[in-house]
Amino acid sequence: MKLLLATRNKDKIKEIRDILKDLNLEIVSASGIPGMPDVIEDRDTIEGNSIKKAEECAIFSGMLTLADDTGLFVEALEGKPGVHAARFAGENCTYKDNRDKMLNEMKENINRNAQFRTVVAFASPEGLIDTAQGKIDGTITESEIGTGGFGYDPIFRADETGKTFGEMSEKKKNKISHRGKAFRNMIPVIVTHTS
Ligand code: IMP
Repeated sequence: MKLLLATRNKDKIKEIRDILKDLNLEIVSASGIPGMPDVIEDRDTIEGNSIKKAEECAIFSGMLTLADDTGLFVEALEGKPGVHAARFAGENCTYKDNRDKMLNEMKENINRNAQFRTVVAFASPEGLIDTAQGKIDGTITESEIGTGGFGYDPIFRADETGKTFGEMSEKKKNKISHRGKAFRNMIPVIVTHTS
C-alpha cells in the first residue's frame, strides 16, 4: 500500500520513514509526485496548516496522505515563533539564521522554557480522516550544543533527557520527540485505512 508524505523536507522525511518503518507501507514524498504544487502554509495554527497540506496533496495525488506541521513555542517570547518557526528570521532564512535569532532574542531571559508541538493530519481524496498531536517540553540553551538533527535541534534541550536534540541519535530523538509521538498516535488510524 502506498502512502504520500506531504512534504519535500528531507530531514522530516528521514525521521518519518524511521518512525513508520514497522508498517508495511511504501512511503513516497511530495517530490515523487510529478507536478505537485507547493502548499502555501498560511493558516494561524499548526493544526490548520497540517490539515490544509494533507487535504490539498491527497486531492492532487489521489492518494492517502499524511502531513505534519510543527511549531516551537517559547514561553518568554509569548509563544513565538509558534506556527511561524520556519521563517522566524525572515523569508528564505536558513536553519542557522533561525537558531541565531532565537539565541539572540533569548540572551537576557532567565525563563528558557519551550515546547515543540506537532500536528499530523491524515486525509484521503474524499477529505480529512483524522488528526493526532505530539509535544515535548524543554528549554532553549544559551549556545548550540551538538550537531545532529535539523532546525532548532542544537538549541532545544529536552527536559526528560537533559540533552539537546542535536546531541541525540535520530533513533533517540524519534523515541521522545513531538513528531515521533504525533505519528505514533496516528498509527492505529493508518493501519485501519491501509489494511
Ligand atoms: P514545519 O512547518 O513543520 O516544516 O516546521 C517549521 C520549522 O520548525 C522548520 O523549518 C524547522 O526550522 C523547525 N522544526 C520542525 N521540526 C523540527 C524538529 O524536529 N527539530 C527542530 N526544528 C524543527
